[in-house]
Amino acid sequence: MSRHNRASNLSFLFLGLVILLCASWIWQLNSQTDSLTFSEVEQLFRQEKVESFVVEDNLLVLHLRENPEESWRYELYDFDLFYDTLAPLVEEQAAKGVITSYDYQQDHSTNWLEILLPWLMMAAMIGAMWYFFILRGQGGGMGADRMAKFGSARTRTLSEKDKKVTFEDVAGADEEKEELREIVGFLRDPRKYINLGARIPKGVLLVGPPGTGKTLLAKAVAGEAGVGFLSISGSDFVELYVGVGASRVRDLFDQAKRTSPVIVFIDEIDAVGRQRGTGVGGGHDEREQTLNQLLVEMDGFAANEGVVVLAATNRADVLDPALLRPGRFDRQIYVGLPDIKGREEILRVHAKGKPLAEDVNLRTLARGTSGFTGADLENLVNEGALLAARKDRDYITMDDLHEAEIKVIAGPEKRSRVIPQHERKLTAWHEAGHAVVMHALPGHDPVNQITIVPRGQAGGMTIALPEEDRSYLSKRYMEDQIVALLGGRVAEKLCLGDVSTGASNDIQRATAIARKMVAVYGMSEKIGTVSFDGGSDEVFIGRTMSHSRSYSEAVAAQIDEEVRRVVSEAYRRCEDILTSQRKELDAVAGYLLENETMEQAEFLRVFGETPKVSVELEKN
Ligand code: ADP
Ligand code: MG
Ligand code: ZN
Repeated sequence: MSRHNRASNLSFLFLGLVILLCASWIWQLNSQTDSLTFSEVEQLFRQEKVESFVVEDNLLVLHLRENPEESWRYELYDFDLFYDTLAPLVEEQAAKGVITSYDYQQDHSTNWLEILLPWLMMAAMIGAMWYFFILRGQGGGMGADRMAKFGSARTRTLSEKDKKVTFEDVAGADEEKEELREIVGFLRDPRKYINLGARIPKGVLLVGPPGTGKTLLAKAVAGEAGVGFLSISGSDFVELYVGVGASRVRDLFDQAKRTSPVIVFIDEIDAVGRQRGTGVGGGHDEREQTLNQLLVEMDGFAANEGVVVLAATNRADVLDPALLRPGRFDRQIYVGLPDIKGREEILRVHAKGKPLAEDVNLRTLARGTSGFTGADLENLVNEGALLAARKDRDYITMDDLHEAEIKVIAGPEKRSRVIPQHERKLTAWHEAGHAVVMHALPGHDPVNQITIVPRGQAGGMTIALPEEDRSYLSKRYMEDQIVALLGGRVAEKLCLGDVSTGASNDIQRATAIARKMVAVYGMSEKIGTVSFDGGSDEVFIGRTMSHSRSYSEAVAAQIDEEVRRVVSEAYRRCEDILTSQRKELDAVAGYLLENETMEQAEFLRVFGETPKVSVELEKN
């Protein structure tokens, strides 16, 4: 007996059983009613023989005084008739204590579903039988049309509730929303953009750790623009069978073009979009084929077709570079962890409609949850509500929320690391150090933003934006760069008496610049105007140096000596700056601890200055 046949026999047995069950259910339903007529029922009530009754769906169940153990059933075809005739009587008898208990819903109507369900199930069974044994029998195994079904994309559209998601539901992410507004504008009124000849991005990549609201943002774009939303997960494309993934991609874009204007959202795009030709083990044909199809489809639709593809990943660095070329996902938006203000706003969004006690302070809660994602915060509020319910209170107290916070920190759903206070302090002074030094160096680019919200590997960041393009670098400029890079380490040492590994990358970069000045650009008087390397960056990697060194040990030692001198001179300058501007340094660090991000205007206020020109953030 073949496997196929045995499976069929088993299904037959199963079907038979289900049909038997259905039949007995129908039989039971009908047999439950004893043959009372309505006038007999009415009579029983009028003679005060009824002690209690309930109406369950379309069934009236009576208990008579004579024999309370036994129940009488009557199928109500017309509930209104029953209610209109007997309700006054029932109330009167109940008041007298003749009827001890009763229960009926006033808006009762015949429950058709209840009556029809068994028959519907029967019909479904017969349909299924027909499909399995007649249709399948012809094709034998996996027929061509079944294969086609297999290759179609299992997209999800939005539920009614999700359709109403707008930017208002996404708290805090102001810059992200700002960047996505253009897409919304285009989807709302494509003609305007087409007439202007503007090139609208076809694909936008949302990059950020899990739980930071990437999916939420994508839904909000669709909601704001009032367009459709097709969502699929990258892992849905990855199948064992060659060709299935590619055919799903084709199907996805067919669906999109049919329903445009529409947002296509590909979650976890790294599952398909990983760089080709990497990874362990063979058999990547399928994934490559899928990725190739995705590239073909992205190139295949015109930008004016009203389809915008949003994709999410938490690792942009593993994606195949081909995906990021112009006309594909040529725009990236970083969706990061929220800062204090963002966390407070997210808490506010999720606390809306929940009764909070007077003592609840969301700002305090936001302060204590650095490192939490939006999803963590949503979870926190929800846990708080559950705790309040468990204590039988109808409002949520601050204690509940604090307890919930601990649950989320320890819980299995935690997506990110909570940043301990001492680490925040170290980062705050480190970044403040960079910023204050940059500000003190006349040739340095102005500080635009400082943050101690972690991003990727970095614990914090100080962003300086050039005021003008530099086509060449002066010696002075490079020296200043080194001083600025050392600012973090020096501030840690000066203010906290301790140093962290957080500065190791800074020091590497500072040393690299110094080495380049000495050995490549000939900026050291002691070494002279000589270049010891073809200018390639490899000179900074010790390993390659020993392979391809074209100069003597003595010169190498001299170079090392000079590099050390340049760096330690910069270190001294840095120390001088930070000691004399200690007050400002502490003020900036204090502000960062309080708010986590500091914009240019606030930073300059510490020095009693105002921004000269408002620098527009250039992002690509
Ligand atoms: P991601 O796709 O980045 O993993 P999600 O969009 O799935 O994150 O976020 C999960 C949940 O966390 C959302 O449904 C929402 O309730 C909450 N959330 C995340 N970020 C925010 C935010 N900025 N504002 C409000 N809620 C948020
Ligand atoms: Mg998501
Ligand atoms: Zn640093």
